[in-house]
Amino acid sequence: MAIATINPTTGVTEREFDPHTDAEIDERIAHAHAAYRSMRATSYADRADWMRAAADILESELDEAARMLTTEMGKTIAQARAEVLKSAKAMRFYADNAEEFLTGRDLADPSAVNASAAYTRYEPLGVVLAIMPWNYPLWQVIRFAAPALMAGNAGLLKHASNVPQAALYLDTLFERGGFPTGAFRSLLIPARAVEAVLRDRRVAAATLTGSEPAGRSVASIAGSEVKHVVLELGGSDPFIVMPSADIDGAVATAVTSRTVNNGQACINAKRFIVHRDVYDEFVGKFTAAMAALRVGDPMDDATDVGPLATASGRDDIVELVEDALTKGAVATTGGAVPEGAGWFYPPTVLSGITPEMRLYAEEAFGPVASVYRVDSAAEAVEIANDTTFGLSSAVWTRDEDEEAYLVRSIDAGAVFINGMSISYPELPFGGIKDSGVGRELSVEGIREFCNLKSVWKA
Ligand code: NDP
Repeated sequence: MAIATINPTTGVTEREFDPHTDAEIDERIAHAHAAYRSMRATSYADRADWMRAAADILESELDEAARMLTTEMGKTIAQARAEVLKSAKAMRFYADNAEEFLTGRDLADPSAVNASAAYTRYEPLGVVLAIMPWNYPLWQVIRFAAPALMAGNAGLLKHASNVPQAALYLDTLFERGGFPTGAFRSLLIPARAVEAVLRDRRVAAATLTGSEPAGRSVASIAGSEVKHVVLELGGSDPFIVMPSADIDGAVATAVTSRTVNNGQACINAKRFIVHRDVYDEFVGKFTAAMAALRVGDPMDDATDVGPLATASGRDDIVELVEDALTKGAVATTGGAVPEGAGWFYPPTVLSGITPEMRLYAEEAFGPVASVYRVDSAAEAVEIANDTTFGLSSAVWTRDEDEEAYLVRSIDAGAVFINGMSISYPELPFGGIKDSGVGRELSVEGIREFCNLKSVWKA
């Protein structure tokens, strides 16, 4: 794939970039490694000052940064602005909290290990390679970079090939805030060039957010090099609606959760599992609300859903939906590609999904909702867990026993009760099964790229 900005609203290639040469890649790794070494001598207070300054710069460039996101990957301008602000907020969160999150502990009874004192401390690991996707071009990177840099690591970013302007923006952002040159650098490289960087002995660890094949490839290379890796892969999150739920609230939230980011988020609700007592009401209202969304130019503040980010992404959605329709699924709204330029796809609701259909097992990375009718909470759990994924989930119920049962029974990294899945800097984020390994964000996330050192004193 060329490293280029191709506007998904028009299909027009706006800018192309040459990939970095081997010499340029080597120089950037060397800069990152040197920056990591120099940062070991800096304090949390120094890094917090730089991080806050970088957050101020990002916020002061809100409109320009938001337009860049919308141009490169098609999210609506309102959601692009929200992403910029959320990223700046997360940077300040880690500036404020990193030191506390990385406080080690004293052994209460050092004599148990024949010591006069024994304690642990968190130290940075080194240069971390971050392989990132295009769906949240700033947020996905910041949620790695803000904690990692505050811990004293350096970062090398291999961003998705379709968001090079975001990659170059991030290439200078931290340095502009005051971090040493090289503390965070972007590599403009194709996916096939990742292996050599990951095997470089100056690179200590890797994190990848993206598809399962990319995750498996990076994990196996990291494994062969005995390097730590965090993976945040796809999801096919269930959204369970039980009879006691606030149905109107569930419908409104279901629409947002399925279509935010034009339906291209790992934690979008994708499978709507609804109790038969409220099924007709829910599906009727959900279909009407999905059909009422305004699809169009993402630069227009009134637009709810813009285009999909890539032509191949839309092709994937078209194939998934056609496979389901030919095998007997019913589209209560959407299901057909509109005419005209750009990679648009309408909000779509499909019912009658069976295990023979690809949609039953595969992730739909676009605004396509699958609806299932169930007789009980136990059947809802059975369908919710009948997937190779395990990222997040949502349950709608006002019955406390049912809530407790659903929370403990769903195989996922998170459960949101009477709400929708959202990533917050304060909450650990990540999945189980094929959705990934490790956690991002919060205390657990910042500790992923640290050396937990035990200290023993005679
Ligand atoms: P990819 O996984 O292909 O891309 C994500 C990142 O990984 C990009 O930087 C990409 O680089 C890189 N990459 C791809 N293959 C490899 C590899 N073998 N080794 C190292 N790096 C690699 O995602 P796509 O954009 O192709 O999207 C496909 C599917 O992935 C979606 O339909 C969705 O299911 C899932 N996805 C999940 C995301 C999430 O948030 N969890 C985000 C995006 C996608 P390059 O762009 O140069 O190929």
